Amino acid sequence: MLASGAILTGLGVGLNAVSGEVFRVKEHKPLPIPAKHQGDQQAEVESLRGAIAHVSDDLKRLAEKAGETSAEIFEALEMILQDESLFDAALAEIDSGWEAGTAFVNAVETFAELLSGDPTFEERLADIRDLAKRVAAHIHGISLGLNLPEEGRYVIVGQDFSPADTAQFTKAVIGVITIQGGPTSHTAIICRSKAIPAVVSCATAEQLVDGVQVLVDPVGDRVVVEGNESDATAAISFVAKSNDPIIPVRANIGSLEDSIAAATTAAEGVGLFRTELLYLQSTTRPSKEKQIASYTEILKAAPEGPIVVRTIDAGSDKPVPFLEMPKEENPALGVRGFRLVVPHREFIVDQLQSLEQARKDSGREVWVMAPMVALASEAAQFAEIARKAGNFKVGIMVETPSIIYEIPNLKGVVDFISVGTNDLSQYLFASDRLHPSLGSLLNPWQPALIRALGEIAKECRAVSIYSGVCGESASDPAFAVVLAGMGFDSVSSSRSQVGAVRTALSSLDKAQAQEIYKAVAQAKTADEAKSIALAKLSLLAG
Ligand code: PEP
Ligand code: MG
Repeated sequence: MLASGAILTGLGVGLNAVSGEVFRVKEHKPLPIPAKHQGDQQAEVESLRGAIAHVSDDLKRLAEKAGETSAEIFEALEMILQDESLFDAALAEIDSGWEAGTAFVNAVETFAELLSGDPTFEERLADIRDLAKRVAAHIHGISLGLNLPEEGRYVIVGQDFSPADTAQFTKAVIGVITIQGGPTSHTAIICRSKAIPAVVSCATAEQLVDGVQVLVDPVGDRVVVEGNESDATAAISFVAKSNDPIIPVRANIGSLEDSIAAATTAAEGVGLFRTELLYLQSTTRPSKEKQIASYTEILKAAPEGPIVVRTIDAGSDKPVPFLEMPKEENPALGVRGFRLVVPHREFIVDQLQSLEQARKDSGREVWVMAPMVALASEAAQFAEIARKAGNFKVGIMVETPSIIYEIPNLKGVVDFISVGTNDLSQYLFASDRLHPSLGSLLNPWQPALIRALGEIAKECRAVSIYSGVCGESASDPAFAVVLAGMGFDSVSSSRSQVGAVRTALSSLDKAQAQEIYKAVAQAKTADEAKSIALAKLSLLAG
């Protein structure tokens, strides 16, 4: 049992502290792969009936709890679940040897194929597939979902949260603590974008139990047991001296909701639109028509200014179900990002052509870039595909150490680069960005990363290639000042941080930012680099 006042250290995400009650998220096992039954068909049929009845009860309970509009959705789903022809289709699957869970999933898929094209059915398809998953999970005794409370003020504690987990966060989630994960994990990215204070990579949080009151203090990189907001570490308070930041601050987005929210900030356009986030749940490949419709909506809603769209960055920690990937020993070093051009060139071309149509339909300025490029020849290959597909500025992300040494060879090939410091840290320090105990190597204040970034900005200037930074490091106001001092042309931040980063970049001039960068570049440790920056900033910009 942790004593009152105990301090658990980790890495903070965000600038505001919050206190709430601990809610430990229970882990669930993954669903088993499709399998045949042992021969007892009757037992399989009974188990299917039982699971359908169970999920159906769940839906009835949800319908009772939900408001009027949502109740209708649950009732409609309940009717589908009880549909006789669906049950018969599942029985036929059991007849042909599949165990009950697989049989029901297969039956739903057969229905999906038959009814594709029916707009009302298609709209509900994801929900219906989710039902099939719930039935299969019940059959295998697996509880799905995080079962988060809907009301109250909770700090949720778990190993780490996947994008699908974070999609289940309710309004009762006011703070997040992860035992594993680092500053570049998806938990950190999502918490930043939803403005939920978090402390990640907090190994001692393993000892936190349900019901304990904790303070999540991201600026202090710590959690305080039974602490409250008055114990929180204060963030540096920048005072804007002009209306314009020394370099533009754009926003990172991954959905229509993000785009709409980013437009309410002072962001100058979008510096990273992560298109793969639209497709993390898609088991079928989106048609060009569907892509055009969603890209157009997102582009139209985005804040004024250029919109930098990244082609699909699937693979490794972001699997996209409809893109078949080889099983790899080491997926972060495997076929991911632009390397998908070999097995899935057609989808990348489709995406660029859809973006061109969306660009025309929305009337917006679109830049496109490829993720995970390691060679100048890959950059040239992407540039050729992109320029053929549409009227875009064309660029690449700098996420691998090798491409840093190729910047001189990018002259005349690409118009811009954007540094993804999340992956660049992962590859520069050979440390998995999701590794539970390597968070400190992924700290953006690491002197080696700062030197690499300084080099990138300098090399880009030398060959007149526009350079930006869109990794999580650009969401830290103090770090954004250092990036401006290095000579980057823009930064792109998580939408919740745009205001804070803009204020920091409006609190001093370029020469002062350069001075801070020069001082920081002398540091020998990450802690020293951060302290030098903060000390200089409080003098110059506070
Ligand atoms: C990055 O790697 O810094 C980046 C912005 O891309 P993602 O986090 O989506 O991999
Ligand atoms: Mg990346």
